[in-house]
Amino acid sequence: MAARRLCQSVGGLRPSHEALGGASGFGGRHRTATWRYHVFGHALGTASGTKGLCSSLSWGEGSGPSKAGNAKVCVVGSGPAGIYCAQSVAKKLSQAKPGLGVRIDVIDRRPIPGGLARYGVAPDHAPSVSAVLETIDNFLGGGNVRFFGNVQVKSGGSGDVHLDELRSMYDAIVLAHGADDPNWLGIAGEGRLKGKGVMTARELVALYCGDPMMEKDFYGGFGVGPKYPKVEDVVVVGAGNVALDVSRLLLTSPESLVAETNTSKRFIDLLSSESSPLSGIKRVHILARRGPRAAAFAPKELREVLQKREEHFVSRIRVPAQGGGEDGGRAGSIGPFEESAGLTKVATRMQKRVFKLLRDHHSKDSGEVREDAPGKELFIHFLHKPVEFVGAEHLSAVHVELQRETLVDDQALEVGPIDGAAKVELPAQLAIIAASQRSIGVDGIPPGRASHEGREGSPRALDRDVISDTSGNKTLAPVYFCGWANHGAKGIIGASMVDADEVSRVIVDDMVSSEGGEGPPGEALDLMEVLSERGVQVVGMAQWKAVREEERRRGQACGRAMEKLTRVEEILGLAQSLK
Ligand SMILES: Cc1cc2nc3c(=O)[nH]c(=O)nc-3n(C[C@H](O)[C@H](O)[C@H](O)COP(=O)(O)OP(=O)(O)OC[C@H]3O[C@@H](n4cnc5c(N)ncnc54)[C@H](O)[C@@H]3O)c2cc1C
Repeated sequence: MAARRLCQSVGGLRPSHEALGGASGFGGRHRTATWRYHVFGHALGTASGTKGLCSSLSWGEGSGPSKAGNAKVCVVGSGPAGIYCAQSVAKKLSQAKPGLGVRIDVIDRRPIPGGLARYGVAPDHAPSVSAVLETIDNFLGGGNVRFFGNVQVKSGGSGDVHLDELRSMYDAIVLAHGADDPNWLGIAGEGRLKGKGVMTARELVALYCGDPMMEKDFYGGFGVGPKYPKVEDVVVVGAGNVALDVSRLLLTSPESLVAETNTSKRFIDLLSSESSPLSGIKRVHILARRGPRAAAFAPKELREVLQKREEHFVSRIRVPAQGGGEDGGRAGSIGPFEESAGLTKVATRMQKRVFKLLRDHHSKDSGEVREDAPGKELFIHFLHKPVEFVGAEHLSAVHVELQRETLVDDQALEVGPIDGAAKVELPAQLAIIAASQRSIGVDGIPPGRASHEGREGSPRALDRDVISDTSGNKTLAPVYFCGWANHGAKGIIGASMVDADEVSRVIVDDMVSSEGGEGPPGEALDLMEVLSERGVQVVGMAQWKAVREEERRRGQACGRAMEKLTRVEEILGLAQSLK
């Protein structure tokens, strides 16, 4: 049986909520009696302009916008957190209320689903998340689910639809929009040299992952064009896994990236083309302000750069000579690799493993250069705090203040500058800030549960509410945070899955406990109608499948598994041609 087309509902009023039995709603503080066919002053609901767009989005067999008894959930963000949460809500709800169906719309500002699982995970690690991407695609292609790619919920002054509009169309909103906005550290010279050799890791990651948002100049621009001087030394600020990712990718031979990974062609060209400023990188220096005990590397990722990439680069660990200058006799000073029973006691298992890996590698390194060693080196400098980016037209060096650690109360470390030590000048033509990313929030709602007074520990950002304006009362659905939008930019995909499970439980509990309460009336607008009216080109699953096929076809043509489409216009052009 053919899937039911969304176009059937465009422009028409659907049966009232009462007629549907009211089962899709769940209660709250207020109740509303009336519903108007307007959303915040926009006159909507004509069928004009919807042609073509509708053909791409269909509900699964046997369901539809007017089907009685369905709960409607909107998930903002098609990354791991949003999709696992949606999947979990559907499963838990079917267990808690066997008769209650759920329809889920997933919105993403990118035209392609997957979030950072597709556009953040380094291409040489992509096989480890292929099952996650498969789950995402399978879920979005399933019944009762629609994907709205290339649709942005208003944030940072731009976007296609307001959060409150969504709240008036659905029974629950999940904000799983991640935290993939670049972060800056405010180091002296950073603003002046931004785009002139100083960039964030988010920009480089977007570039090597082939993120279409990079092409939209979303991340501020790469800034290292063909006229840029040759880069020999790169500084990476930060001591986490993203710092390891970008360093490893910059030092791995482009030939092996081509043969073994789906790294974007543009990045590979930058590394390999004779005329490119990045084709002659010799050294990457990771700068960590604190000592090896505080490194936020994962043991597996660290072992990979220390031991498993020897054919591409040599890894070395550097710590400042302690006790230099006038600091020599400072009470409590502890060497970076010095044993301390108190610190060992409070360290996590992961920290102990990372510390041991670093200490062993450091002690084995005689500093000699083997004859057959590759010409590239990775330095991890601990207790090196970057204090200024310097250069006239472009970055030429980074000034570094050497740090020392002091033991406080036997179980804590304090970090401060080594008294009297001169600043170190590290020549560098490119600096990459690999600090934790941030989320700018959506539509006036700051990200994260902690930012909501009195809500610590709860993922519910906004309760169900009713507001009034000239067109009458509007019931607004509750809003929940999930994934990186909930707990900040930390943790691997597995952590977001755990969070998604927790958040879905709260959503379903709310739905079940408030059964009989009133949700959006049956005639609430459909998102597709609203977007059509605004001329937004939505990329649905049918288009994404076509893009995926095209990526495979292009890959095969040059002997690779796939060649990502990296320009939004190109993706939209292909999507449009299918309509
Ligand atoms: C460089 C890097 C490498 C990583 N490598 C690994 C790894 O190897 N293994 C691992 O397990 N984890 C890795 N992670 C962590 C992993 O990516 C995250 O744990 C996970 O992606 C978080 O999931 P999320 O769904 O919360 O956010 P995201 O994956 O960021 O998804 C959020 C989605 O919301 C969309 N969105 C944002 N704003 C809006 C808006 N206003 N309107 C509509 N849509 C919006 C975005 O386009 C995005 O698709 C890495 C992270 C980074 C940054």
